[in-house]
Amino acid sequence: MPDDSVTREIFGNIDELSKWIFYALTVASLGCFAYGVSLRVRLWRRGRAREHSFGWKIGITRFFKKVVWQKKVRRGRRNAGVAHLLLFGGFGVLFVGTLLIAIEHYSAALLGREPTDPLFHKGIYFAVFEIVLDTAGLALLVGCAWFVKRRLAGTSSIGQHKLDWLVLGLLLLLGVTGYLAEGLRIIREQTPQPGFSYVGLGVARGFEMIGVTRGNASTIHFALWWTHALFAFGLIAVFPYTRLLHSLAGAINLVTRTEQLGTLIPISIEEVEETGLVGAAALQDLTRQQLLELDACVSCGRCQDACPAYEAGKPLSPRDVVQDLKSQLSSQQFSKALSETVTDETVWSCTTCHACVDTCPLGVDPLRLITDLRRNLVAEGKLSGAPASSLQKMQRSGNPWGLPKDERMNWAEGLDVPHASDHPDFEVLYWVGCAAAYDRRTQKVARAVVKLLKAAEVNFAVLGAEECCTGESARRMGEEFLFQELAARNLETLARYSVRKIVTHCPHCLNSFKHDYPQFGGQFEVVHHTQFLANLVAQGKLEMNEDAGDDSGTLTYHDPCYLARVNKVIDPPRELIQLTVSATEANNVVELPRCGVDTACCGAGGGKMWFDDAAETRVGASRVTEAIDTGADTVVVSCPFCRIMMSDGIAARDTNVQVKDIAELLADAIHENSGRC
Ligand code: SF4
Ligand code: SF4
Repeated sequence: MPDDSVTREIFGNIDELSKWIFYALTVASLGCFAYGVSLRVRLWRRGRAREHSFGWKIGITRFFKKVVWQKKVRRGRRNAGVAHLLLFGGFGVLFVGTLLIAIEHYSAALLGREPTDPLFHKGIYFAVFEIVLDTAGLALLVGCAWFVKRRLAGTSSIGQHKLDWLVLGLLLLLGVTGYLAEGLRIIREQTPQPGFSYVGLGVARGFEMIGVTRGNASTIHFALWWTHALFAFGLIAVFPYTRLLHSLAGAINLVTRTEQLGTLIPISIEEVEETGLVGAAALQDLTRQQLLELDACVSCGRCQDACPAYEAGKPLSPRDVVQDLKSQLSSQQFSKALSETVTDETVWSCTTCHACVDTCPLGVDPLRLITDLRRNLVAEGKLSGAPASSLQKMQRSGNPWGLPKDERMNWAEGLDVPHASDHPDFEVLYWVGCAAAYDRRTQKVARAVVKLLKAAEVNFAVLGAEECCTGESARRMGEEFLFQELAARNLETLARYSVRKIVTHCPHCLNSFKHDYPQFGGQFEVVHHTQFLANLVAQGKLEMNEDAGDDSGTLTYHDPCYLARVNKVIDPPRELIQLTVSATEANNVVELPRCGVDTACCGAGGGKMWFDDAAETRVGASRVTEAIDTGADTVVVSCPFCRIMMSDGIAARDTNVQVKDIAELLADAIHENSGRC
């Protein structure tokens, strides 16, 4: 056990003049840091203020979970994540260690103690301190070396800036000179029990081998101590002007960001009347949080790698959108039109799949930027052609196909589906949605769902012609007020029938009821049909028929973005598929390479369903290839849009692969006597 004689002198071998120069440089570098940060804060504050509810308790939890533990940094890019954790953790520990040394130094000085008689920097504390800091230095160096190697390899998705080399160089040199100075200190002081500084001790032995002795170590130590200090001052001074700024802006963003995945911030007529603006036309129209996010972006390219539009060769990289706007922020062009920086074609390439938002380790939300740009383009009348026509149809007929209301129940012909008005005591509302009401292929899904609900004797009803489009795609296309109009219509109908629980087979309707409608007073228990059906199976209300013939063959399941990634419904669809496989002895199930929250977009979200891109150039074409390449005979889906996009994509290829919704599979697999069907 080390006793109190085990310590080291702070500022040992450093003369008085050097100390004063050191203090002056500390103030100068901190001044540089504070000036740089204050410049950025002033830029962020030029954004629009928005009411923001922030709780300290949740903020502290987020700080430890998202900033310190960095779970998201390790997701997807494990090696980069571990390297970042080593670099960040090593630097953080060294920073705290330096602060502790400063506290020891100034408190001992205030108490009038001799430099060789520390207050707490001795004994067991000192031993642990040295072990921890030596280890942290190693972590920092390993992390830095990994990033240097990756930059030299030229990984294309990472943003490259010449100042990045300055930062990495300073960090590396800081770590190396720290160990060199420590080794020389050990030789100079002949510190008792120096084994605690195990790296420094190794360096000391190395120096001794090349002839450094206690007699000549002081001069070299002095020179290296200063070199180390100058690198540290340099790093502090350049912090706000380089990539390092992301650690501050990112930490603030991660701690203060409140939006949940799948949520959009509503705009009100009053707001528009006051500002004369819908969405964002210039940088000054973005919120303070959005401007902060621009600085939080470290240009890691994870969002670009995950973006299906970028993958499909569309002119959209979420990283470039953020970085280009960041350049505009840095050059303080607050009134320059955003459309000069981000083209309309880029804005309309997005499928709102949320992959960029979900993958960003710094909480940056490129999708919200894109939506604000879309809102402005729509308000300015800059959307034309098929997508504009789908919005008009939604407004006129309550569905994007523009088909008559009285055809809304055609899908249910011969099924005797209970309507809410004839059956007011229903427990569950089956929300059919426009696709199942009007699209022939999706109508089969609604029929299958009804068959299953009846088989399980669920007390349900539908709204028939009283149902209208949720407005989800209108909202994601930027037509906020059309969405609000449709939502108001639906909310009025749902209130009239005192609806509490909703089952929907469309993940977009599900997301709208879960995240959009509560913003306008609609609070419902809403579940996807796969969740509801899995629950019925678990309750023994649906029995599988082991004799059921099935032609599905090998199955593969495509997770819809709005179900798996946005709303985290991942297991229920798989449980149901597994059940049908076991029941019908269909071959087996193969998982797609990109699945669960890391699923790949079919290309229909965000209103892209209504754009007339050719099948081969559509976002999602690669997903069709991926599904076919699994060798599966049937691609199983659980979203009407995915069903349409996958079917169209597969039809354009020379293959017999079929596409089925889980409800269709299950309806074919249940026992004849399962219920009343
Ligand atoms: S937005 Fe996030 S994921 Fe994309 S480059 Fe910036 S930091 Fe990386
Ligand atoms: S939401 Fe999806 S399509 Fe849009 S920018 Fe992000 S990753 Fe790309």
